Amino acid sequence: LEAKEEFDHSSLAVDVMRPRRSDPALAMLTQEGMTVGEVEALVESTHYSGFPVVVSQESQRLVGFVLRRDLLISIDNARKRQEGVVSASHVVFTEHAPPQAEDGPAPPLRLRGILDLSPFTVTDHTPMDITVDIFRKLGLRQCLVTHNGRLLGIITKKDILKHMAQIANRDPDSILFN
Ligand code: ADP
Repeated sequence: LEAKEEFDHSSLAVDVMRPRRSDPALAMLTQEGMTVGEVEALVESTHYSGFPVVVSQESQRLVGFVLRRDLLISIDNARKRQEGVVSASHVVFTEHAPPQAEDGPAPPLRLRGILDLSPFTVTDHTPMDITVDIFRKLGLRQCLVTHNGRLLGIITKKDILKHMAQIANRDPDSILFN
């Protein structure tokens, strides 16, 4: 993101984030309650570089962010090396695994280690010029968008560049080139 490209001050995070109203819902994982097979199916049905992890579908509270690459590598390694990891195994991102019944299913696959526990977030009403500034200064690839503590969407660096290009086409005077 070039420093000379400035945003029209009226753009907000909610104007740039995905999903758009017509898009499929945000692809996210829950910190517990999903199986290895379900996680693989979700990851393989999309091309996204990463996935937010939430406490539960009901709460939509953000726990962290996991990269597609790290998920696939970890699951692949676990399937090869870790006794008893199969499609039906549970995946947990929590600190403490749920208690295991002695005759219960195999232990879960624990993936907290690959979770970014402090992904950058902004609220839906954060002005884009501030968000772009943070992207530049922190060298971010993506940031998550929340509303009242609930996860709403995601903004990638490419989303910002596309939005800038759109504004430039629509209204050249709204961008300050200096
Ligand atoms: P890039 O924007 O660099 O291509 P991605 O491939 O991760 O990065 O994202 C492609 C598009 O999908 C972007 O518009 C982004 O906002 C959106 N996106 C990224 N991750 C998710 C996700 N987990 N669920 C829904 N949409 C996503």
